[in-house]
Amino acid sequence: MNRKKTPVPYPPRIELARIQTPFQPLPRMSERLGVELYIKRDDLTGVALSGNKVRKLEFVLAHALAEKADTVLTCGGAQSNHARATAVAAARLGLRCRLLLRTPDPLDPPQPEGNILLDRLAGAEIVWITPEEYGRRGEIFDREAALVSRKGGKPYVIPEGASNALGAWGYVKAAEELAHDLALLPGKRTKETSVILATGSGGTAAGLILGRRLHELKARIVSINVCDDRAYFTKVISEICENAIAEYNLPISFSRKKEIEIVDGYVGRGYALSRPEELDIIKEVARAEGTFLDPVYTGKAFYGMVKELQRDRACFGERIVFLHTGGIFGLFAKSSEFAAPL
Ligand SMILES: *Cc1c(COP(=O)(O)O)cnc(C)c1O
Repeated sequence: MNRKKTPVPYPPRIELARIQTPFQPLPRMSERLGVELYIKRDDLTGVALSGNKVRKLEFVLAHALAEKADTVLTCGGAQSNHARATAVAAARLGLRCRLLLRTPDPLDPPQPEGNILLDRLAGAEIVWITPEEYGRRGEIFDREAALVSRKGGKPYVIPEGASNALGAWGYVKAAEELAHDLALLPGKRTKETSVILATGSGGTAAGLILGRRLHELKARIVSINVCDDRAYFTKVISEICENAIAEYNLPISFSRKKEIEIVDGYVGRGYALSRPEELDIIKEVARAEGTFLDPVYTGKAFYGMVKELQRDRACFGERIVFLHTGGIFGLFAKSSEFAAPL
């Protein structure tokens, strides 16, 4: 029987990201770690508008424009890459942008460096909120959206990390790219492969998990969480997958047990806080490969991957694709923490 594959039902999308992103070997790190290691360069989806959030924003902002919004609101940590990508994308599309950023003392906000500098240059309005307010950000979003409406604007709220069913489509599409990247590799197609990524709000992992099924990507999707824990992310990622399957009527089943793989244990000192060994691995990869990881996400995930491989070289299979999700500007906010002399 010649069964025709049903096309994947992508929602409307606008072009913001420079894709398809490069897929490169890491020859020196491969040798040091004793595995075949590649890197998917989603840090190269653009310059100021770069990283994994851009792929999600292609779908989310297409919806915002269709809804005739003129102001986008979103949230994150002070050095949020997602907030910065949203601020830059909003400027590119002629939208206003209001960011709720988390800081211990809103009366004494952080210096405008790294991502915050770019937020400001792109004209985003920043509302500093406490961690406690961040915990009930739904309420704060309602208040801020009401403020925009009262002034005659049309608000559109993007959740943390653009990690909802719509944003996940960005990584369904990335899974399609990855399947293509892997098919072009020389040698055996059947090598056991893992895609390893940093997870902070779950949307990237959810998109890859859905995309793996929709595009027959033959790889494990392994998340290394940079905050919270395995139980939290199992729930968050599952909910995004389940919502997407229901909302878009996707022809796949989903099992929390079988499809979610999370390596917990590398949060370290906490979200966005670095340990010397994490900063060392950033330095090592920069020198070995000319590729810069970030301190909040990819540096931690790469460090976790190295530690797991030291424990068991075969734990991720013969071949690993490290997904570089971006975050370069966070590095500049950490310059004083790198041990001198560099
Ligand atoms: C947001 C972010 C992540 C995590 O992606 P989620 O979809 O939020 O899990 C990873 N790396 C970088 C650089 C990010 O900015």
